Amino acid sequence: MNTSSCLIMRMYRWKNYIFNKDKYKTMRVFLGITISLFICHIACTQPFTHRDTLRGSITPERSWWDLKYYDLAVDFDIDKRFIKGSNTISFDVIKSAQTMQIDLQEPLAITHVEYKGNPLNYSRNGSVYLIQFPYPLSAGTSDRLSVFYEGHPIEAGLPPWDGGITWEKDVNGEPFVASSCQGIGASTWWPCKDHMSDEVDSMLIRITTPSSLMDVSNGRLRQIEYHADGRHTYHWFVSNPINNYGVNVNIANYTHWSDTLHGEKGILDLDFYVLEDNYDKARVHFQDAYRTLRAFEYWFGPYPFYNDGYKLVEVPYLGMEHQSSVTYGNKYQMGYLGSDLSATGWGLKWDFIIVHESAHEWWANSVTYKDMADMWIHESFANYAESLFLDYHYGRNAANEYVIGTRLRIINDKPIIGPYNVNGKGSKDMYYKGGNMLHTLRTWLNDDVLWRKVLRGLQQEFYHQTVTTDQVETYISKATGKDLHAFFNQYLRDTRIPNLEMKTKGSKLSYKYSDVVEGFNMPLRILISENESTWINPTTEWQDFKANRPVDYFRVDPNFYVEVVGSR
Ligand SMILES: [Zn+2]
Repeated sequence: MNTSSCLIMRMYRWKNYIFNKDKYKTMRVFLGITISLFICHIACTQPFTHRDTLRGSITPERSWWDLKYYDLAVDFDIDKRFIKGSNTISFDVIKSAQTMQIDLQEPLAITHVEYKGNPLNYSRNGSVYLIQFPYPLSAGTSDRLSVFYEGHPIEAGLPPWDGGITWEKDVNGEPFVASSCQGIGASTWWPCKDHMSDEVDSMLIRITTPSSLMDVSNGRLRQIEYHADGRHTYHWFVSNPINNYGVNVNIANYTHWSDTLHGEKGILDLDFYVLEDNYDKARVHFQDAYRTLRAFEYWFGPYPFYNDGYKLVEVPYLGMEHQSSVTYGNKYQMGYLGSDLSATGWGLKWDFIIVHESAHEWWANSVTYKDMADMWIHESFANYAESLFLDYHYGRNAANEYVIGTRLRIINDKPIIGPYNVNGKGSKDMYYKGGNMLHTLRTWLNDDVLWRKVLRGLQQEFYHQTVTTDQVETYISKATGKDLHAFFNQYLRDTRIPNLEMKTKGSKLSYKYSDVVEGFNMPLRILISENESTWINPTTEWQDFKANRPVDYFRVDPNFYVEVVGSR
């Protein structure tokens, strides 16, 4: 329901109720209530504006066409912090229509739009441009148009979280420029259909830089064009579907080396780009990329972009999961900028950014959310991938301790799933709580062969696709043979931690769940002595477990993310 219809309904109900009584007095009351309701309504709905809806929903001007290909060309004038370029957008017409929405955020502006050699008219509403074709395009046809633009792009406030373009200098005073735009959107630096549900099948990225610098973007470097004025254009070609925020530009005085890794799908090309001064330490430190790829190919299946290769690229901010071009700014330290997020010691055995951001090649770049409300699909799996990395290299105990250790970062402030259709995200709990949710599910399954099959199955089923939470939930339920509807409702759509109430009397152990959503019935493994365990099936009703001796010890397997309230 939209804002205005909701308000009208409330007013209508109040009017019917009040106007049957004293006409004038009730009119004043009615007006007072209407104003209060209006203020209340505005307060309740204010967080999202029409602009958010245009940005975050599949508007009619977006729904009729399907992206096929972008040819993006951008010239970076680093001294002026100014960019100028074009994007030629190829698309299929699904439904006949005449008006197309293209997004480009201020202060950038579209200068003209070309279609079959002729200019097209357009209007602007904030970051949204509505482009008019001269006639309705026919369904079933393929077409393209070119959008030209220029301006000073948004500068990143706190990249990568508050993104845009970062204009930095390296220690030698050379420019060090990079884009990062997850959430805020690729339209911060180039015109596009800035909605995650639709991806091109492939893309050409042409970036022009001063002659002393190079650009590293996504995919493979096809050619370097040398211009008479001394500048260079780097042509990078991505031969796979790519989401908007996965596209990136990184301009610096890079040094580079290549290698290969014999992976599940054959030979994977690896390329590393770092600042010259960091070359020696990077050669050693970036060995974590090999360990990461080995571990994740085991758990998730082949690296999803063999034909584009894998790159690790140094940037002037912490890092981001740019597709086939993972960006790195963890300062060559172990852990997260030298600290252990789990406080167990296991978080310092590896470079957090290499592991976490590389996990996103599977969970974000290959399997991608359609709506940012479902961002847990990227972050919960990438978070749990950290534990799986430890599992592969250091064993199950290390993995368990790590993921349990990160619970200290869970805040349970709001649901993990955010509001839909407004480019809004849910709680930060999508990281640590999401990882613990997946660990809890794995503990429930108690079958790592099946668990690995589920992870690899998700990657196969949704390979190079955009997905919804519903699709992921349904797949996991089917693959495990369990109805996980209530389980996901509990951890993704509620903030309460399931509470197991337990009490013992002699040899009787009584237990039940509280603080759970309807139908939540996850079985639990409990320990009734140091090395004796059994499974119980709690519901919201008290049940008894009879031991063959007095129960003086009980514990829930700590791998389940539940709370336990016990008494004797
Ligand atoms: Zn992440």
